[in-house]
Amino acid sequence: MSIYIGPVFDMARQQFELIADHLAIPADERPRLLYPKRAVAVSCPIHRDDGTTAVFQGYRVQHHLTLGPTKGGTRFALSVDIGEVAALAVWMSWKCALAGLPYGGAKGGITVDPRALSLRELEALSRRYMQEMIPFVGPHIDVMAPDMGTNEQVMAWFMDTYSMYQGRTVTEIVTGKPVATGGTLGRREATGRGVIHLAERALHLQGIAPTGATAIVQGFGNVGSVAAITAVERGMTVLGVSDHTACYFDPKGLDIAALAQHAATHGVLAGYSTEALFDPAELLAQRCDVLVPAAMERVITPDLAARLQCRVLAEGANGPTTPDADRVLEQRPEIFVIPDILCNAGGVVVSYFEWVQDLQQFFWTEAEVRDRLNQILDRSFAQVMARAHQDGVSTRTAAMAIGVEKVRDAKRMRGLFP
Ligand code: NAD
Repeated sequence: MSIYIGPVFDMARQQFELIADHLAIPADERPRLLYPKRAVAVSCPIHRDDGTTAVFQGYRVQHHLTLGPTKGGTRFALSVDIGEVAALAVWMSWKCALAGLPYGGAKGGITVDPRALSLRELEALSRRYMQEMIPFVGPHIDVMAPDMGTNEQVMAWFMDTYSMYQGRTVTEIVTGKPVATGGTLGRREATGRGVIHLAERALHLQGIAPTGATAIVQGFGNVGSVAAITAVERGMTVLGVSDHTACYFDPKGLDIAALAQHAATHGVLAGYSTEALFDPAELLAQRCDVLVPAAMERVITPDLAARLQCRVLAEGANGPTTPDADRVLEQRPEIFVIPDILCNAGGVVVSYFEWVQDLQQFFWTEAEVRDRLNQILDRSFAQVMARAHQDGVSTRTAAMAIGVEKVRDAKRMRGLFP
């Protein structure tokens, strides 16, 4: 299994081993649960605008096929490699199982900085990636969605490319599409809204009223910007936000609507203000009620975990906290951790709703989407709390134990073929 290397897969492996120890899973059963069923690597050539040809490396990892098709986002970032994609696919599996969705986890991506491409080049690369993946995906095989560096437009190109090859429109091949092309109402906002919905639950348990609570958000893309906007809608004051270009902090609170407007116009936070500029390395360590890392993996290290001053750590990103940092947080019961596979599950839950609606060609209102999303998030949150209490473990161990156990149970009932 030596192709799955790198710090992010090591982290997923370490987390899995902890859960496997907790569940007393025999050693010979572990590789079948941890290692991906399939991994595809493709080379995607495109014509650059200057007339040259460039080749980009793409991946798709399908973690397990036990519960139904696989499901997961597509990341366009320079960090993308097979280990990172595999780790994200593994986490998706536990996340889908925890939420009770009929999916295995998947993830894909291309090693590219999408901001370095023109719109035409981005379209060419998106279409070529999907074309290369056609033998390996399908509405009942593997369903893609957005992740870091991709968005609704990229999903529309994926759907169009797949459909052209099928000779008919197949909206259910991807989720996170624009509503005009078979997307669902509420998908774009689902992850960020879910993060804040669960943060409110956690605040209540901490004895803090959400109205008047303070928040800090790292990352101002799909997840981070919606989380910040939703936090304000719920009466919270957002003290700090950052993206890869700028970091702002104001103890009196930032104007999130103006920041969102600036980001929508310029694509980044840089240039919004010179007054509230802040050291990005220190942002997460500032005092606040709700801290939302919503950018990338492994930002909360043991050192930072010891310095956090939040009461709720709401993990919008996948894998923001390292296993070593988790050990520090386990010694800090004053901080309530909403683990990533629970906290950011709103995205895949509403992706599931989108897939169901596309398969049935029967569309729901936004209120229906929101209500059903909140029901699933509340059920998962209650299950995690009950399990953490019952087993005397952290919320992360509880959440992952539920996810791993569901996949394991299904594998055992189905047996080993042939
Ligand atoms: P995105 O590409 O829309 O946004 C990423 C944001 O992170 C950008 O604002 C970028 O500038 C910022 N960023 C990058 N490097 C940074 C740095 N060093 N410091 C501060 N900010 C930085 O991506 P997204 O879809 O919002 O995803 C963010 C995270 O949430 C990822 O971990 C992703 O896997 C996870 N996630 C996304 C979804 C979804 O529905 N989009 C669902 C579940 C989990």
